[in-house]
Amino acid sequence: MSERTTATGGAPHFDLAVVGAGAVGSLAAYYAVRRDPGRRVAVITHAGRGAGATRLSAGFDTPTGHNPAQRALAARSTVLFDELAARLGGAGRAPVDVRWLVARENTAALDATMADGGRTRPVTAEQRALLERTFPGLAHGDDEVLLASGPMTAGQPQWLADRLLDEVLGHPGNTLLEGFRVTGVRRTGGRLELAAADGSRITADRAVLAPGPWVLDGPVAAAARERGARVKKVVAFHVMTPPPPGAPALVLEDADAFLLPHHPGGHWILSITSPDWDRGPGEPLAIDGRDRELARDLLARHVPGFLPHLLGGRVFSDCFTPGHLPIVDTAGDDAVVMAIGGSGSGYRLAPAMAEDALNLLDWRTRT
Ligand SMILES: Cc1cc2nc3c(=O)[nH]c(=O)nc-3n(C[C@H](O)[C@H](O)[C@H](O)COP(=O)(O)OP(=O)(O)OC[C@H]3O[C@@H](n4cnc5c(N)ncnc54)[C@H](O)[C@@H]3O)c2cc1C
Repeated sequence: MSERTTATGGAPHFDLAVVGAGAVGSLAAYYAVRRDPGRRVAVITHAGRGAGATRLSAGFDTPTGHNPAQRALAARSTVLFDELAARLGGAGRAPVDVRWLVARENTAALDATMADGGRTRPVTAEQRALLERTFPGLAHGDDEVLLASGPMTAGQPQWLADRLLDEVLGHPGNTLLEGFRVTGVRRTGGRLELAAADGSRITADRAVLAPGPWVLDGPVAAAARERGARVKKVVAFHVMTPPPPGAPALVLEDADAFLLPHHPGGHWILSITSPDWDRGPGEPLAIDGRDRELARDLLARHVPGFLPHLLGGRVFSDCFTPGHLPIVDTAGDDAVVMAIGGSGSGYRLAPAMAEDALNLLDWRTRT
């Protein structure tokens, strides 16, 4: 490590500490270094790279939002993803056509969620024929319609986080601290001191805290709870049959679920909304019978031909916030900003969350 040390206790000192090496933390660290390449940054993870929700994320990016603030975050993230792709020579994202199954009466509400102001339109005969070939037994009620929107994207969140961390760590003076579980952040001697569970310490001028689902068990727990943050199980099943080339994603809008082709894995991802609240990453998390019933119900109603292929999947926890709107705000000190509340969409909103966190930090602590 080439960090400076404090005059007093010899604790390594950094200009910025980023707690969290997931999508949000790695983006915050990357933007910090881009803004000021001389800034010394420590990225901290309680375990190692890929310890969090980002590793298991389905990486589906539908730039939508259920309120204006969420739509603004989604729209800004789209711009930032495009910038990343241009700078890095790719951001691990591929376009995917998206079709929506929604109750006819909810069509206008769906259109209102589109962050780019775009509109869905009824599928053409050709698009319907492709859907019927792709989703065996495709069925829906008379009161439901199939709609098409512009293409959206499927990303590789962990690949992106790793790529960004590599960029950050390529700058002299920056470091990744693994196995450093931050238990407290306090101001001492004009600096922030970040203490770890084993008693070791570093100091920093500023800190971004992006702990993902560990939010309620760490240094921002009290501030996060005060703002209504909770944790919830997130489940994405695997449908073990290969998606054909060019297969569209199918969003089951009213069930808050989607079927996404996962070409690298040679299977589909069926994301459902698990009802298991208050399930943090420290607990044993498993796909259980209730999740499977939900998934089977959806497939039985809409894609019965996929039922025999429903096998296993991904399960983890995520931080959910009121209105599913991420919280990016100071936490007890102007030099400490938390960026939390992926709410099951933390990959697609991460660029704007990270940018907002740095804007807030730089603005609050500007001298
Ligand atoms: C199965 C599944 C499917 C998903 N699908 C999608 C999707 O299709 N699209 C989408 O947009 N989103 C999706 N999400 C949500 C998205 O993945 C998450 O919202 C996002 O990855 C959260 O990123 P994060 O950086 O906030 O947290 P994480 O990736 O969980 O990272 C948290 C980091 O903080 C560190 N940390 C925490 N506490 C401490 C501490 N005290 N000290 C040191 N380090 C600490 C951890 O080590 C880790 O590095 C999905 C999530 C899951 C689980």
